Amino acid sequence: MTTTVNSIDKIFIQELEKILGKPQSPIPLHEPEFSGNEWTLLKNCLDSTFVSSIGEYTNQFEVMLTEYTGAKYAVAVVNGTAALHISLMLAGVKLGDEVLVPALSFVATANAVSHCGAIPHFVDSELNTMGMDPWALEEYLSKIGEVTSQGMINIKTGRRIAAIVPMHTYGHPMNIESLLNLAERYGLPVVEDAAESLGSTYQGRHTGNFGLIGILSFNGNKIITTGGGGAILTNNAELARQAKHLTTTAKKPHPWEILHDSVAWNYRLPNINAALGCAQMERLSLFLAKKRELAARYQRIFANGDQYTFVNEPQGCCSNYWLNTIRLNKPDISTRDDLIAKANAAGYQCRPAWGLLHKLPMYKDCPRSSLPIAERLEASLINLPSSPKLLSVT
Ligand SMILES: *Cc1c(COP(=O)(O)O)cnc(C)c1O
Repeated sequence: MTTTVNSIDKIFIQELEKILGKPQSPIPLHEPEFSGNEWTLLKNCLDSTFVSSIGEYTNQFEVMLTEYTGAKYAVAVVNGTAALHISLMLAGVKLGDEVLVPALSFVATANAVSHCGAIPHFVDSELNTMGMDPWALEEYLSKIGEVTSQGMINIKTGRRIAAIVPMHTYGHPMNIESLLNLAERYGLPVVEDAAESLGSTYQGRHTGNFGLIGILSFNGNKIITTGGGGAILTNNAELARQAKHLTTTAKKPHPWEILHDSVAWNYRLPNINAALGCAQMERLSLFLAKKRELAARYQRIFANGDQYTFVNEPQGCCSNYWLNTIRLNKPDISTRDDLIAKANAAGYQCRPAWGLLHKLPMYKDCPRSSLPIAERLEASLINLPSSPKLLSVT
């Protein structure tokens, strides 16, 4: 073996080349694929003139989502952030409350909390799943939380802790069952951020379908896209009714009268976006098969590395492998950045994890637990090119 004379970055590029070939042009991190009925359904939608907030594709897309995820109800909305915003409100999050969110997440998770006038309260992740750590959270809450008749109070800030938002990082299911146990003991509603995990299951059940309410995103970089889009998932008929009502300007049903019964939002997913979504849903299982095969290829090549580890799906879970990821065995921001810079220069679009949310200027004064694992993950995660088109399974 010549590994001792080669530096870690050389080996990394060689291995990427083995998996993906030598790039003719830069290989994006994640590219959408429109190889099915996208053009046909979009044309049908334009021909129908129903391109906006009323139309059959939006209804059909919701049915496809319920059939696929097993959730009883799906409400399609303009994006994942809007879905989280409404879901948090329906879970009872109010002005001045705190909401427990992972420090390691996309900024939308915390922004949706802020849109409710509430305060994100950042907690730590598990090394393995990269999702919220239920045991660390339990220990933390036993120190800072007090269960009162108004719910759980943060004894340090005096504010109510109103909900927990677990997130399934890069499509790998977090330990949702343990989190639900804890949430139930403390009387806290769970709003599941499944924005990245369409197609991922935990013990056979689809993510986003465990908590009181869950959300999906169909942004351009997600596993399927509607351009921009999102959905609220729930098994609760009353929550589904309210979600639909609040995202469609709270208009009272009537053949011609235009009356609204509360302050609400114009968050309905337009029919033209849903047309794209219906065509993409038809392709989802193919995308998943291709992404699994690509992940297996990464896994084979990266498995024996002593410098980094390929992130596999957690036990008992099936991940969509939305973004393939390696973790440096020795967390180090400068090694991470060096590998990412070299990979990008060689035409492989690699990315670090999000900067931890509690370090962003608008969230720097928010309450938080100690975050040793989130810090470690931030300094060690590298996302790898993951488009389904990188593999041609038929
Ligand atoms: C993509 C994403 C969202 C929602 O994003 P939108 O762009 O608003 O659809 C929320 N949370 C996480 C973790 C995400 O990755």
